[in-house]
Amino acid sequence: MRKIHQLSVITGAILMSSAVFAQNPFEHYQSENSASFSGYKHYNYEQNVSTDELMKQGGKIYSSPEEIHAILQGGLKTDIQTGEELWKEGLMFDGIEPMDHMVTAANWFPRTEQVQHNEMRVTFMGTSPMIRPGQANTSIYVELGNGDNFVFDLGEASIANYIGAGVALNELDKVFITHLHVDHFGSLPYLYQFGGWNGRWEKPLTIYGPSGRNPEDGTRHMVEGMLQMLSWHQDAFDVFPSGNDIEVVEYDFKDDGGVIYDVDGVKVSHWRRSHAKDGASAYRLDWTINEEESLCFVWTGDGRPTELDIEYGKGCDLFVTEVQTELVGLASIVQGVPAFLTRYTIDTHHTSGYAAGWLANQVQPRLFMTTHMEFDPYYNNETVAQVREHWKGPYHLARQT
Ligand SMILES: [Zn+2]
Ligand SMILES: [Zn+2]
Repeated sequence: MRKIHQLSVITGAILMSSAVFAQNPFEHYQSENSASFSGYKHYNYEQNVSTDELMKQGGKIYSSPEEIHAILQGGLKTDIQTGEELWKEGLMFDGIEPMDHMVTAANWFPRTEQVQHNEMRVTFMGTSPMIRPGQANTSIYVELGNGDNFVFDLGEASIANYIGAGVALNELDKVFITHLHVDHFGSLPYLYQFGGWNGRWEKPLTIYGPSGRNPEDGTRHMVEGMLQMLSWHQDAFDVFPSGNDIEVVEYDFKDDGGVIYDVDGVKVSHWRRSHAKDGASAYRLDWTINEEESLCFVWTGDGRPTELDIEYGKGCDLFVTEVQTELVGLASIVQGVPAFLTRYTIDTHHTSGYAAGWLANQVQPRLFMTTHMEFDPYYNNETVAQVREHWKGPYHLARQT
């Protein structure tokens, strides 16, 4: 029987926290200054006033020290008023327990916590098809407790978030590209050149990607073109002592379920997606930790849901798909694209919010996530509402702020 184990997801990849708790975190709540919020009633805990008494007085009150402490240490497990079970706040979700090594479930500081031996850590380094100053194109970073890591797509500007998260570029030597839309591979030239400069001298950078209907539609052709584009740069970097090799593993896009990587208990397989042209693919990573434990991650890449997604994604621990929120009028205004074109693009190339929820309900993952969307307040509520139409299980937006 498969056991449940550690799966951690970091969605606000570069949301570095600058807020540090004072030695006594309750000092803040006891200070006179904290009584300045209008509508809130100040109350000094040392007076030992009961919460019930304060609630009778009406208005809003601060949480008790015990409540705050419980949240900081273990998440919000139960609604204080109704007794209803809540999801854990912060990074922890229903069904995913805080890890033994973590001091608190309430926060997580990037690059300060080792990936544990049976942990899969998934960090979203870019989450939007539209590049903006605060949001890069799609890229998902998967780290395993065996010390290995995998990059799934490497959209434009996402490389900045790897660097911002403290990942040295020579640590990245396996990139799996779902398809050849530039928002899924735009940072590749930078990783290739500067990864080599940063010390990727022993192992080549390996690019895994699909073939296409014709040779010029395949991943190999794209990489060959990139190398031509980089001719001046590559020559200029030749002064450095070691090579900067690149290898391409171009697999047959039609080989649904085909395994393209099988090393050290980790297998990566792929299947076809319905997206624009032949060649768009989805990936599934299966990691066998030991005889009893395993973890699975799926990134569908772009496309409309099909039976293949259900067949190959069924029951995976973490299932991530793309989503296009059906707010066509708003999207047109924000992006300056005619509404008809937005409507057409969603219908023929992508997964709507409703379809994403439907797909999740078929797949029944431990945790369902959507990405590849602009993270804006006017979209987010609607996205959740659309997904929730069909999927009631654990769900989170994979966004980058
Ligand atoms: Zn895309
Ligand atoms: Zn695409």
